[in-house]
Amino acid sequence: SGRVEGKIALVTGGASGIGRGCAERLAQEGASVVVTDIQDHLGEEVVRSLGGAAVYLRHDVTDEDAWISVIGEVKSRFGRLDVLVNNAGIGLGCPVTDMTLADWRKQTAVNLDGVFLGVKHALPLMRAGGGGSIVNISSVAGLSGAPNLAGYCATKGGVRLFTKAVALECAALKDGVRCNSVHPGVIETPIWTTVVGGQPGVNEPPDLDAMTAMFVPMGVKGFPKDIAEGVLWLASDDSRYVTGSELVIDGGITA
Ligand code: NAD
Repeated sequence: SGRVEGKIALVTGGASGIGRGCAERLAQEGASVVVTDIQDHLGEEVVRSLGGAAVYLRHDVTDEDAWISVIGEVKSRFGRLDVLVNNAGIGLGCPVTDMTLADWRKQTAVNLDGVFLGVKHALPLMRAGGGGSIVNISSVAGLSGAPNLAGYCATKGGVRLFTKAVALECAALKDGVRCNSVHPGVIETPIWTTVVGGQPGVNEPPDLDAMTAMFVPMGVKGFPKDIAEGVLWLASDDSRYVTGSELVIDGGITA
């Protein structure tokens, strides 16, 4: 049987990139996966490709009412929630002096408020089922700074310590919930098209191969599957003694 056989998993931002990779890997190992996103077309495509093992729900992670309705839907369909992967995120890069307060808040709303709201609203359902595993997707930019990514680093560093605080709160309650962060490096996904502002001719997206050559000691970029393997382990009972931990999957960038 699979490594997460029979578990119910919710993956935010599951329509694309790393989230999609996680949804696929968890489904392959026997989980029922609820994929949520704001890109309905892509989300429905993911669910079709996974067959009966998945459902798609439209869900903006910055919206508290949407979280309440998504968790309610999970409860009524499955009666429990074992795994939450807080993956939805955006990257807005520019010099700190050029960053508008509106963009700062937009990025914080998705990357940090979204993770907070997910934890807040998923925990009661997880606890009612006797425990679970929360995996928050941070970044290598949550471990050290990067130029032109001050806002992004602030959110991802916030996710890292939020994760540890929640892990300790759950451990103190002996509620059976573990909470860990995952820190990807350079992973080939569409997020890189927006990371420097996404304005063609003004701010071109970074050349991933050039970035890889410059920053990644192993000399190769990663793929969503590389992150999904770590998320799968944290989601499974194989990591039952791991909480408040940070799993770095970056080809050596932060070593
Ligand atoms: P992606 O853009 O391919 O996927 C992100 C998904 O999140 C998209 O499907 C998008 O529609 C969704 N999303 C955006 N805003 C949302 C909202 N408000 N509500 C719900 N869904 C929303 O990017 P990705 O690379 O797969 O990123 C996934 C996570 O991994 C992000 O948190 C990102 O910061 C993190 N990360 C990525 C890399 C990388 O190199 N790709 C590196 C480090 C960390």
